[in-house]
Amino acid sequence: MFHVKHPESPTATGFYDDTPLARELADLVSRRRALETADVVLPEGTRIITISNQKGGVGKTTTTVNFAAALASVGARVLVIDLDPQGNASTALGIPHSADTPSVYDVIIEGAPLDGVVQQSPESKKLTCAPSTIHLAGAEIELVSQVAREHRLRTAIEAYLDTVEKKPHFVLIDCPPSLGLLTINAFTAAHEVLIPIQCEYYALEGLSQLLGSVGMIQTHLNPSLRVSTIVLTMYDGRTRLSQQVAEEVRSHFPGEVLDTVIPRSVRVSEAPSFGQTVIAYDGQSAGAVAYREAAVELLRRGAQPAATDRRD
Ligand code: ATP
Ligand code: MG
Repeated sequence: MFHVKHPESPTATGFYDDTPLARELADLVSRRRALETADVVLPEGTRIITISNQKGGVGKTTTTVNFAAALASVGARVLVIDLDPQGNASTALGIPHSADTPSVYDVIIEGAPLDGVVQQSPESKKLTCAPSTIHLAGAEIELVSQVAREHRLRTAIEAYLDTVEKKPHFVLIDCPPSLGLLTINAFTAAHEVLIPIQCEYYALEGLSQLLGSVGMIQTHLNPSLRVSTIVLTMYDGRTRLSQQVAEEVRSHFPGEVLDTVIPRSVRVSEAPSFGQTVIAYDGQSAGAVAYREAAVELLRRGAQPAATDRRD
């Protein structure tokens, strides 16, 4: 006679308690609980953060929209500026961005006020987005002949913050995968650069070029810009490669890399096809929990003065 364990309540018997999956689930449950009681303090001013990496497909847009939604879920007002002609951030936030939609293109090229293009995401009252449209694809070329071509986004954001009644706690700028004039506009407008790094082969390739560009912007256009945060994305704990990449990045940037790593997760990749962030799509999933933890870390780290700001 066989003794059959009930498959739907494996941990009730302790039978599966020691499997990796059971450990992972138990860990997720305790992390969700910790998030429910996490203390968060919103910034007094507006933190302007550009999410950049000239490598394509490393998780810039996913990181932008999920940080935005996670921050909004703890009460922060967040404005996402979609600076990529692909419009993926607009899509993920459920914001219409057909060719005739007033967009970031009108702001940067035509000098339209940012206030006139900002839309509220259906996900949260706290979450707004300045969408991109396909017109932005031509902006790199059109910007070349414009006056103050590197400062146009900065000027628009400053005017917006001066006039808007409730200032956002965060402005997050989603950059295209290039170091062209659109990304330079983002670097000129921001206080902080957040770099997502995919835990894959060649993760660090191109990073010195990115840091070189940030250095040039600091010298010529925006002395207060700093790389404040690095986020490891698409981490697969089962592979030695992901662990090696994470260790290597941490050894190069011990102060910047968030403790939280974003796991590779099907829920994260499915969410945009529903016009949602993973926070709205499946807020209890491992990917959503990781982005919520990362957002709490971002808030906490911002509360500490940067080493260069400290006065002894
Ligand atoms: P681009 O350079 O084209 O703008 P990107 O850097 O913005 O790309 P994303 O669009 O965010 O990168 O992500 C690239 C792909 O990887 C997308 O299909 C996205 O759904 C998927 N992806 C991102 N993060 C994760 C994750 N944690 N788990 C699973 N899939 C992910
Ligand atoms: Mg993108």
